[in-house]
Amino acid sequence: MIAIYPGSFDPITLGHLDIIERGCKLFDQVIVAVLRNPSKSPLFTVQERIEQISLSTQHLSNLEVDSFIGLTVEYAKLKNARVLLRGLRVLSDFEGELQMAHTNETLWNEIETVFLATSNEYSFLSSSVVKEVAKFGGSVAHLVPPQVALDLCRCYTETPLE
Ligand code: ADP
Repeated sequence: MIAIYPGSFDPITLGHLDIIERGCKLFDQVIVAVLRNPSKSPLFTVQERIEQISLSTQHLSNLEVDSFIGLTVEYAKLKNARVLLRGLRVLSDFEGELQMAHTNETLWNEIETVFLATSNEYSFLSSSVVKEVAKFGGSVAHLVPPQVALDLCRCYTETPLE
């Protein structure tokens, strides 16, 4: 069974990585799919995010990293996948995630969304939190894979705060 883990991953955090590693134990193949979203202005380009994810997941043999544009269910069909993998942190995640799962089901009734509860230590962790800490010079080494910590450091050193 193939599962797609779609998201922005701007950048990937240890919370995402935890979901990916657990997903790889549950499914034959997991595809981490970076959404190319023209209406968002991300910190990292899609190519940079793909590289960050690939570098952080070299130990996982049943993982593919890709990007997509458009409807997630159409991408899932293309990849022959019937499962969408998503993570749940706090109650506020639930509403949006449930709405998305129901919408996707109306678009293709063969799709199932599987939610994994965050591991306790990552329940507060999001890409935005990481960017906020890094922007003000805080260490993010305990929040993101090593390559991402370096990229964030470089990013905010090259673009100092006004
Ligand atoms: P999106 O813009 O689609 O929400 P994100 O990259 O923010 O993309 O998140 C992708 C998925 O990973 C979402 O299902 C989100 O709830 C989940 N996720 C993000 N951070 C964590 C975390 N710390 N623990 C568990 N799941 C997480």
